Amino acid sequence: MKIGVPKEIKNNENRVGMTPAGVFELTRKNHTVFVQKDAGFGSGFFDQDYKDVGAIILDTIEEVYASSEMIVKVKEPIEKEYSLIQSHHVVFTYFHFASSEILTKAMLKSKAVCIAYETVEDKYGSLPLLTPMSEVAGRMAIQQGAKYLEKPIKGRGVLLGGVPGVPPGKVLVLGAGTVGIQAAKMAAGLGAHVTIMDINMKQLRYVNDVMPNHVVTEFSSEYNIRKRIKDHDLIIGGVLIKGAKAPKLITKDMLKEMRPGTVIVDVAVDQGGCFETTKATTHEDPTYIIDDVVHYCVANMPGAVPYTSTLALTNVTLPYVLKLANLGWEDACKTDKTLEKGLNIVDGKIVYEEIAEAFNWSI
Ligand code: NAD
Repeated sequence: MKIGVPKEIKNNENRVGMTPAGVFELTRKNHTVFVQKDAGFGSGFFDQDYKDVGAIILDTIEEVYASSEMIVKVKEPIEKEYSLIQSHHVVFTYFHFASSEILTKAMLKSKAVCIAYETVEDKYGSLPLLTPMSEVAGRMAIQQGAKYLEKPIKGRGVLLGGVPGVPPGKVLVLGAGTVGIQAAKMAAGLGAHVTIMDINMKQLRYVNDVMPNHVVTEFSSEYNIRKRIKDHDLIIGGVLIKGAKAPKLITKDMLKEMRPGTVIVDVAVDQGGCFETTKATTHEDPTYIIDDVVHYCVANMPGAVPYTSTLALTNVTLPYVLKLANLGWEDACKTDKTLEKGLNIVDGKIVYEEIAEAFNWSI
């Protein structure tokens, strides 16, 4: 199969859909891989790295699309790419169709096969192509939170690990899913005192089993949250209710109960945020302050660490790329129910019910 890897053109997106390791696996199975010039540059992979494993480097995005049968990328296509996507293409990427009617209509018009990373789902209901980005964001939440606790950037001036003779900082993690567990692990590693809350006892039992003793689990309730926010330095929001807006666990009035310089990191911002005062921010201007509480609400946290994020993403996408290339999309999806869940649009029709529902369309 002819596979194309375009350079991402969305603002500040430095990840790339395939690493040289992926190209290596494909070319040795006799597939042809076209990589756009400088596509991997932002993630630390150079054109020569791709050439060394048999990729053909093309100068323009137009050439990559025109030469390929399957496109492997990271972000949803943006307007400039719509006309490049044709009926003979299989496009494997994040789409998030339900949040964009314009994109959905453009892909329907293209008649391409659109397989969305975010809806690839295994039999246990896990989303294997989303998990690595939650892992990145959860770990990064502590790195960012620790930074913004510094006084010159308006934080409380607390070193999370403390020092001999001075107690460590306190971290409250809301949600004990992928983001929450990775955040708790990082905070614990720095020596901080960690409280992690969830409404799912199974998750709390798991955390209690695997984490050290300075990670304390507590059932998530408004009463418990109000009690803890008074003396915790860093609060991480990592809750998710599948398919719904995040519940507002920290309301505006609660900010007054926090100490000045408390830092709150709302990782759940992409689902509307779990703090009432959350508004999405960018890596250029990641924080704002309300009632002396520093808010960090960056919606694409993994974008700041493209080397790690690209590797984490492509580790999990590559097996599916290989399957799609070796078998063609129809047989690949027939033989792999997890991948089949990723089918969103085929031949000008929506085949994933929730997308049609999002726009009140019938399928
Ligand atoms: P997850 O499903 O693994 O975990 C969510 C947890 O929240 C679950 O354990 C659930 O029981 C818990 N929860 C639900 N309601 C709760 C409540 N009232 N109190 C406490 N816990 C509650 O989800 P995840 O992969 O960890 O993702 C969390 C959020 O982070 C999602 O919205 C995801 O989209 C987002 N995310 C954001 C970024 C970013 O860059 N900002 C990156 C990756 C993921």
